[in-house]
Amino acid sequence: MGEKVILARCGEIMLKGLNRPVFENRLLRNIRHALSGLGKVSVYKSQSRMYIEPEDSTFNFDKAAEKLSVVFGIVSISIAEKIDTDIDIIRKTALEQFRNIHDLKTVNTFKIETKRGKKSFPLKSTEISADIGAYILENTEGISVNVHNPDITIYIEVRESTFVYSGIIRGCGGMPTGTGGKVILLLSGGIDSPVAGWMTARRGVVLEAVHFYSYPYTSERSKQKVITLAEILAAYCGNIKLHVVPFTEIQLELSRSCPGDYLTILMRRAMYKIADRIAAGCGALAVVTGESIGQVASQTLQAISVTDEACTMPVFRPLIGMDKNDVVDAARKIGTYDTSIMPYEDCCTVFVAKHPRTRPTLTRTVAHEEKASLDRLIEEAVAETEIINVKGG
Ligand code: ATP
Ligand code: MG
Repeated sequence: MGEKVILARCGEIMLKGLNRPVFENRLLRNIRHALSGLGKVSVYKSQSRMYIEPEDSTFNFDKAAEKLSVVFGIVSISIAEKIDTDIDIIRKTALEQFRNIHDLKTVNTFKIETKRGKKSFPLKSTEISADIGAYILENTEGISVNVHNPDITIYIEVRESTFVYSGIIRGCGGMPTGTGGKVILLLSGGIDSPVAGWMTARRGVVLEAVHFYSYPYTSERSKQKVITLAEILAAYCGNIKLHVVPFTEIQLELSRSCPGDYLTILMRRAMYKIADRIAAGCGALAVVTGESIGQVASQTLQAISVTDEACTMPVFRPLIGMDKNDVVDAARKIGTYDTSIMPYEDCCTVFVAKHPRTRPTLTRTVAHEEKASLDRLIEEAVAETEIINVKGG
């Protein structure tokens, strides 16, 4: 009767004032990129919506909806029938959609929800809902209307054209990738840092990742695990440049020249110094980590403030107030959890002290740090960093 299209709703972008077109245009570009490979589509914006209209009869709508559900900036998606704004056509389309779902599952109750954007249309939205509801009741058996808790809802949007749909697929929300600048994500193989990266990327920020690699104390498989995590993140936020920094010499030097209880904090300061260097070199404006207060000895407030001092960039910790359970739930949702729990060693666990200091002072930490010849080793680690380009979806 009409043509099938996809509606994508944008959330916060709509609150933007004069800058709104910048965000919208970026989102349009990101949508086109996400759908490339699925055939020719026309993507355009109108009022607070993005519309995706395939030009190809073999277009895979479910695949497209799946791809759009991981595009930052989209709050929800519906696959809709686009028809002429004519009450008779609206009735027939709504009935047809109802029947399609009715055939698929047990549906006893339904409701119609209407929005009327076209004010010149002679019926008000409640009148349209009542009219279409009555039409469906007349043409089916054994069902009734339930406006509070229906088994299905048919949505009708009356604009220049009318859109009829029954499903709303949740998107990730956030801001379009590429509108928020760039950060350096410290990406370990654990559960936390991929979640911290995802939360930051969701704000429209481009990620460049840094992994500290302690070969041969950590294996090639642990590096592969980090690449896999970066690939999962890249499906949301596009290509990620992954810097794999050889960290073994620094760790050996620290463990030779500094007391064991300060080792973790010194190692973390070295990580921050290197991240700072890489950030400055690639135009990133902040460093992001997966730390949260009190999770481990190196994440007490004292330890965090001593490590922070080693970094000139702002350090963001999106998980700072989260419990581990919340982080695990988030990791499951974004799809990194199963990879994160694969049991490969991490550089922090290999060189860890039995009793790391939970209340280090900056003066003592720096005094110990000065005993190690770190500057040259940091230069070398940066120079020998391997760069892996991880492709987005
Ligand atoms: P995660 O689950 O993210 O590994 P964690 O609870 O194991 O975190 P730590 O090992 O103390 O905690 O690490 C805290 C943060 O420091 C990590 O979230 C990550 O951002 C960063 N980090 C730790 N190890 C590495 C590494 N080998 N390479 C890059 N970043 C790291
Ligand atoms: Mg870790």
